[in-house]
Amino acid sequence: MDAKGPMSQWDMFNTEISDDHMPATGMDARAAKAIVNSEAWTDAKPEMNLSSFVTTFMEPEEMELAREHILKNHIDHDMYPQLFAMERRMVKWLHKLWNGPADVEPYGAATVGSSEACMLAGLAHKWNWRQAREAAGKDATRPNMVTGGNVQIVWKKFLRYFDVEPRIVPLKPGNYRLTAEHLDKYVDENTICVVAIAGQTFTGEDDEIQEIHDWLDAYEKRTGISIPMHIDGASGGFVNPFCYPDYKWDFRLPRVQSINASGHKFGLVPPGLGWVVFRERKVFNEDLIFYVNYLGGEMPTATLNFSRNAAQIALQYYGFIRLGFEGYQRIMTRTVENSQYLRTLLLDSGYFTIMNETQRIPVVALTLKDEYKTFNEFDVSAKVRERGWVLSAYAMPPDAEQVNSLRVVVRPHLNRNVLKGLAQDIIAACEWLEQHGGNATPPELHAAHMVTPSKC
Ligand SMILES: *Cc1c(COP(=O)(O)O)cnc(C)c1O
Repeated sequence: MDAKGPMSQWDMFNTEISDDHMPATGMDARAAKAIVNSEAWTDAKPEMNLSSFVTTFMEPEEMELAREHILKNHIDHDMYPQLFAMERRMVKWLHKLWNGPADVEPYGAATVGSSEACMLAGLAHKWNWRQAREAAGKDATRPNMVTGGNVQIVWKKFLRYFDVEPRIVPLKPGNYRLTAEHLDKYVDENTICVVAIAGQTFTGEDDEIQEIHDWLDAYEKRTGISIPMHIDGASGGFVNPFCYPDYKWDFRLPRVQSINASGHKFGLVPPGLGWVVFRERKVFNEDLIFYVNYLGGEMPTATLNFSRNAAQIALQYYGFIRLGFEGYQRIMTRTVENSQYLRTLLLDSGYFTIMNETQRIPVVALTLKDEYKTFNEFDVSAKVRERGWVLSAYAMPPDAEQVNSLRVVVRPHLNRNVLKGLAQDIIAACEWLEQHGGNATPPELHAAHMVTPSKC
């Protein structure tokens, strides 16, 4: 304890932290901590933020483990070769979990999140496409990528940042998934890959992965053009293998060349971890790999970030060995069951129509029935916020903009009592709004997440 003792916290109460310059002098550690925490008091409680897919529960041992590894920079493989070995091992485990072929060298990496993982996969497909085009003496200047209008924002970033033409198949009311139906209007010889989602952010559904795969097979037979698939399994990558082992969404489909998943979503690690895994080493184009000195040898590095915290790697490894396949299976199965429990309570209230008929991941996506005209999904979200719950409400992407969604991500830390209380709060909010009317409008922010479908 320092000279001022515990009273120093009180001494800081009339100190205002400036908006525009850093404090000239410091303060007592306890006072600084108290101010940081108090500035964040009005933020959401992470456990009640059900608009997010990201982990908000840790075992005490995980807290300790995080503290023990937080000062390690993972990229210093020379210094922390054992943590690097854990990463390599987990890439192999994921390749196997996602049914990669046994006779190949798997390749992949831990990333900061699925965003970095998606960018790496997108770059690999762009490079592979360009090399093949150049080798065939064809024009290689106009790459495009095909996805559904339900893609997460990262793909729109990838397309813009890396100069790939977006070919986004619009949604329609009642169908919020990419299917093979309109692919013939979007796919051509310049398509670097088709991205299909396992566990999409809007409704929690999977795209029609098998159907798209088979359509691309037929397309190749017809045209000689072979187009790879990337699966965005940010959420589904840690749900499908455990809940639906017979469902083929992964490397069992030969066209699936790369898969990403968020370790910090249903991988159960706190924020800061994603994974990208390639079907085999050669899919990750050699031109994208840099070699650094490592223990007297050469070690490939192929991530967008250089420095990163090693704690999440240790925590993912902890999760895998602590829970094992059986543990993840138990947790994911119960969580999906819990989402069905919540869904039933909400549907029984009579206010809502379900949006995710083909549910895979534990998400409840609802839309208010047409008969409720005096309030909308944004009002319900705002009203339950009074109780501390954060639920997302948004207008769906084109061409389903007229549909608003109210979405609850049921994460593994939520038990039945909590979900029952949540259902009661949502229903009470609807009853109140039915009497008093609402006035919320879609926040501008959501419009910015949308991308107009490309003209093609
Ligand atoms: C969350 C998510 C992303 C982005 O992942 P981060 O881990 O947040 O970077 C990409 N795609 C889908 C389908 C997602 O759910």
